[in-house]
Amino acid sequence: MSRILEESYRAYEPRPFTADQRKDVTLLFGGVTWRAEKLLEGLFKSAGYNAQRLPDVTVEDLYLGRELADVGQCCPTAFTTGNLSSFLRNEAEAIGADEVAEKYVYVTAGACGACRFGQYHQSYELALKNLGLEAFRMFLVQQHEIDQSKGKDAGLQTDIHLLLSTALGMMAADAIQDLEYQLRPYELEQGATNRAAQKAVSEIYDVMLSRPKHMPKWGSVLWHATTRRFLKAMRRARGHFEDIQLDRLRVKPMVKITGEFYLATAEGVQNYNMHNWLEGEGAEVQPAPMVVWFDYLMRYGGQKLKLGFGIKEKARQNYVLLKLGQRFFRFKYDQMRRMLGGVPRPMPDQDKLRKLAAPFFDNMINGGEGDLLIAKAIWAHTQRKAHMICELSPYGCLPNTMSIGAMAAVQGRYPDMLYAPIEVKGDSDVHALSRCQMVLADAKIRAQEEFESALAAAGLTADEARKRAKEHPKVNTPFWKVPHRGAVGTASNVVLELGNATL
Ligand code: SF4
Repeated sequence: MSRILEESYRAYEPRPFTADQRKDVTLLFGGVTWRAEKLLEGLFKSAGYNAQRLPDVTVEDLYLGRELADVGQCCPTAFTTGNLSSFLRNEAEAIGADEVAEKYVYVTAGACGACRFGQYHQSYELALKNLGLEAFRMFLVQQHEIDQSKGKDAGLQTDIHLLLSTALGMMAADAIQDLEYQLRPYELEQGATNRAAQKAVSEIYDVMLSRPKHMPKWGSVLWHATTRRFLKAMRRARGHFEDIQLDRLRVKPMVKITGEFYLATAEGVQNYNMHNWLEGEGAEVQPAPMVVWFDYLMRYGGQKLKLGFGIKEKARQNYVLLKLGQRFFRFKYDQMRRMLGGVPRPMPDQDKLRKLAAPFFDNMINGGEGDLLIAKAIWAHTQRKAHMICELSPYGCLPNTMSIGAMAAVQGRYPDMLYAPIEVKGDSDVHALSRCQMVLADAKIRAQEEFESALAAAGLTADEARKRAKEHPKVNTPFWKVPHRGAVGTASNVVLELGNATL
């Protein structure tokens, strides 16, 4: 019996990719925001690789992923499998399958369980087999390991030097994104913020390209801890936003995006272009930063280590090291934010998030978003950070189904929370957007009522508030930090500031 089981399972193992093949091989990657992908491209190039991001994901990719792999898989797996397969299929038609298998390798994040994330490579493997591309090579970078050096002969070196630069790149991408989303809804010249964001990301890309190619482990840790190159580039990035003209007195509901990592961070067809659609409907959107997810992974790692205190060797020591690493991670992100005038929002405290979610969800369950999805929704609501929570949950996702179940209890506890759980199948946008629109209608009413309360508290009419904003032009400059004066909406907090009042 055990012999049959051993023969039945074969973990995916790519053909070797060696250092001397590096110059002839192109690394393919994707699955994060355009900002992060641009910075990853610079990072890979600086490390001596040819690198190319996969094309933007399409709905056809979703269908292809379902067709080639497993029709019942969660939609992020289908999107990413189809996206890779579609690119490779087109290339194979142009240059032949053998040439594709030699010319490209795919790099993506991996993990073991508890959900399908631990099996993505098997979906890819099945799809490649169905395309006749079994010889194609894929490499997983484990998200819970820092140093994954493979020896000097390995073609792909995911060592600490590469991973620390990746972390800084993701921080920069998130900080720029958060600034962008706070400005775009209020810009007077349409497109000004998007243009500035493109230029800002190019500044960081240039730093990525010119970072030292190789470094020994501890030398790299020291370099990343002390280098000011990224901070200076962030300051230059700031310069591209300086001239954007704003009108922060436009009343807009604040919508926080939560949900599964891939769908919540995507800005494309994967989630029905939800960010763009919400802005088009008059909302200010709070995107889901990747750094909060990394911060959560460190918090979760700490919880696991704590369970081993007094049982496992070095559990306490490793816990202390992890906590120091987490503090340093947060410190670096705050540094990046400061370079953008402190306007990008800080990361919420993970310990507070854990406590908020604790009555509703076991924090040791780690599939999908774990307790993070619930915690972020409660945090945004109770801390008055958002009028509405839009949760993007993938079709066919077990962890998110559990979270949504727990959210029923959360809504019982906070009945005034405006919560739009959107199940994303990838090809039912009318259904999903109309569902979101219903909750958004209530959020708009709430934002307008709040604005009127803010005017009353400030002793101003809307016209007087506009007049006063003209007398205090700083309130409409990009790097003025909107104070939190008890309101959720930007316009309401601006009015309260102008009238020196609170709600
Ligand atoms: S969290 Fe859900 S959507 Fe994401 S990989 Fe796991 S099962 Fe799929």
